[in-house]
Amino acid sequence: MPKAQPDLSQRITTSWAAFLLAVGGGALLGRDLEGEFRIVGIILAVFGAILLAVRTWQNRTLMAQVLAVIPVADKGDSLLRKLPKAWAALEEENLLLRNQAEAEDQIRRQILTHLSAGMLLLDQDRHLRLFNPSAQLLLGSSSSLGLGDPVVVAFREPESLRNIEGACQGAPVEWTLRRNPRILRVRAIPFEAPLQASARPWVLVTVDDITRQEALETTRQKFIANASHELKTPVTGIRIAVENLQEGSLVLPEGESSLRIMLRAVDRMTMLLEDISELSRIETGALRLEPVPLRLGAFAADSLENTRPQAEAANVQVALDLPPELEDFPFQADPLRLVQLLDNLLSNAIKFSPGGAGVTVQVRKDGPWLTWAVADQGPGISETDAQRIFERFYRAPSVRRIPGTGLGLAIVKHLAVLMKGEVDLRTEVGKGSTFIFRLPAGEV
Ligand code: ADP
Repeated sequence: MPKAQPDLSQRITTSWAAFLLAVGGGALLGRDLEGEFRIVGIILAVFGAILLAVRTWQNRTLMAQVLAVIPVADKGDSLLRKLPKAWAALEEENLLLRNQAEAEDQIRRQILTHLSAGMLLLDQDRHLRLFNPSAQLLLGSSSSLGLGDPVVVAFREPESLRNIEGACQGAPVEWTLRRNPRILRVRAIPFEAPLQASARPWVLVTVDDITRQEALETTRQKFIANASHELKTPVTGIRIAVENLQEGSLVLPEGESSLRIMLRAVDRMTMLLEDISELSRIETGALRLEPVPLRLGAFAADSLENTRPQAEAANVQVALDLPPELEDFPFQADPLRLVQLLDNLLSNAIKFSPGGAGVTVQVRKDGPWLTWAVADQGPGISETDAQRIFERFYRAPSVRRIPGTGLGLAIVKHLAVLMKGEVDLRTEVGKGSTFIFRLPAGEV
């Protein structure tokens, strides 16, 4: 038969009573009393001490009392016996986890060692917390890296330091760095370090060697620039020859339509070559902007005038929406290139509009920007096409029957970047499109 467990509250009560008796007796003794009070004190103190000793022996340890209130079935010594075993199991699991963490750490280190891209981790004080051998190799021997070094050991250039700080604002920043003989693409990414309460985030910096890509890109650009330039002369020759045949009536009437086809093909080829060489001039940096002070009203009216013949031929009404207070607004731009950009947007708007429709050029001063919005009532652009129309040669399949090179918007995008502006598109299929160009409206 199992031995009945004594009631805990009873055990605690008698323990407390014994304790109070002992303390009370001791207190009476301590008050230096005479006669029978002293005897009562001695009796109380001795009785209390004996009772307390017995209770303590019965309860043995505090653990026994604690075990008595643990809500498990097995409240006896067996649980106490299991504790060392449980402790050993915990230690074993802890060791296993530590080994696993170490193994994973080693894997990470090996990956970093074998990675061809350079990687550096900067803490909130911009000190090096981690870097791999490729980072050292790519940044060159002039940057001899060591853990704990300040960022300037790796990146001395003010632009790099600015970009690394810029990345802390939230978005990654990318830039190109020349470290002879290499050209590097560097990317700074804000990094939330675990268990770091600092307000400044850490920064992860990756470094890629793009020397070969850059060389290939330069070769490609040179080839395109040369080819388009060289092809212009023979194409002009063909055009002159075809025109001579036409004007001299040197071809039988049955051949007339072939001549017209040849002329159209030559025109298309000329247009393509013009656009290709223009794009390659922008890409190679051969095109330099020559900004001059301009007045908004006069400039906008002139720009619209350029496309008047095309608008009339297509029976499209082009309107300028410029608030009177902006008529004399002074701004600075390269007039030739700004007209070229607006021309591309405007001639697309006219080209893709149905006869009788209207096109509006709205000009506004919007904070730091001078905004040009070219809106049409054409077919609009689907979401899939909208993502690609700024790529070279991309033309939406639905409008392929309308002539074009697919290079106009690529030129627009490049010119916008060159002017430190940006292009945006709002469109709805079946309703029309609005191309918005924002130009910095710096004071003249
Ligand atoms: P292109 O006009 O010579 O085809 P672009 O580069 O100027 O080349 O335009 C690329 C494509 O973007 C066009 O082929 C057309 O699909 C689409 N696009 C451009 N502007 C408009 C517009 N205003 N309305 C509808 N589609 C447009």
